[in-house]
Amino acid sequence: MTVRQIEHVIAGTVPASVRFGDVFDPNAGCVQARVTLGDAAVLDVAVQAALKAQPGWAATNPQRRARVMFAFKALVEKNIDELARLLSLEHGKVIADARGDIQRGLEVIEFACGIPHSLKGEYTQGAGPGIDVYSMRVPLGIGAGITPFNFPAMIPMWMFGVAIACGNAFLLKPSERDPSVPVRLAELMLEAGAPEGILQVVHGDKEMVDAILDHPAISAISFVGSSDIAQYIYARGTANAKRVQAMGGAKNHGIVMPDADLDQVVNDLAGAAFGSAGERCMALPVVVPVGEKTATALREKMIPAMAKLRIGVSSDPDSDYGPVVNAAHKARVEGWIQKGVDEGAELVVDGRGFRMQGHEEGFFIGPSLFDHVKPTMQSYKEEIFGPVLQIVRADTFEDAVRLPSEHQYGNGVAIFTRNGHAAREFAARVNVGMVGINVPIPVPVAYHTFGGWKRSAFGDHNQHGPEGVRFWTKVKTITQRWPDGSPDAGSSFVIPTMA
Ligand code: NAD
Repeated sequence: MTVRQIEHVIAGTVPASVRFGDVFDPNAGCVQARVTLGDAAVLDVAVQAALKAQPGWAATNPQRRARVMFAFKALVEKNIDELARLLSLEHGKVIADARGDIQRGLEVIEFACGIPHSLKGEYTQGAGPGIDVYSMRVPLGIGAGITPFNFPAMIPMWMFGVAIACGNAFLLKPSERDPSVPVRLAELMLEAGAPEGILQVVHGDKEMVDAILDHPAISAISFVGSSDIAQYIYARGTANAKRVQAMGGAKNHGIVMPDADLDQVVNDLAGAAFGSAGERCMALPVVVPVGEKTATALREKMIPAMAKLRIGVSSDPDSDYGPVVNAAHKARVEGWIQKGVDEGAELVVDGRGFRMQGHEEGFFIGPSLFDHVKPTMQSYKEEIFGPVLQIVRADTFEDAVRLPSEHQYGNGVAIFTRNGHAAREFAARVNVGMVGINVPIPVPVAYHTFGGWKRSAFGDHNQHGPEGVRFWTKVKTITQRWPDGSPDAGSSFVIPTMA
């Protein structure tokens, strides 16, 4: 049987590939396609096409650029069933969740449709005698995005939606584990009217990423993935004088105050900890009940709720969550469960050894629950990125604020309470970038901005919203004077002031 091959989307002819990566079907546990892995020579073909296309695109007025984004949004909506199926088939998340992945990306495209407004500059009439000052936001040139496997639609759209609307050309290096949807998105951008070379997809692994980091014509790099790689991207990219934003891993805590509605909390936790098999950077894999009574009650309610979870093939509308992305990731998650046991945490529910009838080779993992997890444990400190929920008991509200604040990651956090004062205090004091108050997955809407703190993000600008526009543009400031022709006062040798 011939295996489907996933190619780059490049406006030019590239050298034939000699390296390929396997793309698995996580439900069946077998290879379903292979993706071509590019190198510096392939990248350079794409860069040359981008260099050719970008000046014309930057000179296209913002309203016309926005029209391409409108057309793209309509095309994605028209094709959403096909895209969601493709995404689910490679990633393993259930179809409804795959649609959510696409929809969240489309919301950034909707933001990008308003780009003329976002690009308006500032103006001061009469900043000095006969002098006006104004600023304009101009595109950087060529931007690149390196994206993770867990949101193959949303995260590319976070990046290229804003970058392209701002007038840049964009090179997308998607995860080699689920590259098909990014390819389809690039095809739909072309169909929507984006000129050739404005959005290209270059596949690859570290070799391609390093080529991107070192290519002198690429001005800015946006990365989302795990923290060690994010830090590497940030260090090497900035050393090469590029603008870099690099989002990393997470370990989000859900604080449960004694006055919280526990039934609601358990519902919210089930979705936030186990949805998408826990493969979300905004999942809630740690729950912190405040007080022994809260902990005992929460644990008692959580166990039966977990027993009701339906793990199944990702195309089954009745499945709550599907398999993890590949065998290596499955082994990694199960390794962390064992580590938790070895470190002395109590494994209350063990999801290992789960076999899906008829899909015995699939990468399925049942839900796991740990209690009495301690902040000193490695399995608490590190990201597991699987369907594993850890209970870390706190005695007081102060302890609960301290746990996420002192954790190495600071992506998201949530507090569940009926007490507005406690919630307000928590939101103000916790050392984390995105906070939910009775909202388990506090992913900000597209016209706000997404980004964590500490080891969850390197660089200064967040993703999308006004921060995204700032990241993908630079500011030019013009000071203008139009003399009326009357005689000049002659040279001045002092710095001009407005005194
Ligand atoms: P990953 O770090 O393995 O891969 C991300 C990208 O980096 C991929 O495109 C991959 O090809 C590339 N890459 C991998 N190894 C590399 C290396 N040695 N050198 C250069 N490039 C390399 O991440 P993943 O497993 O695809 O995604 C899951 C991770 O992403 C989790 O840690 C998750 O928390 C994180 N994530 C973070 C956010 C956020 O916004 N903070 C969002 C989604 C996912």
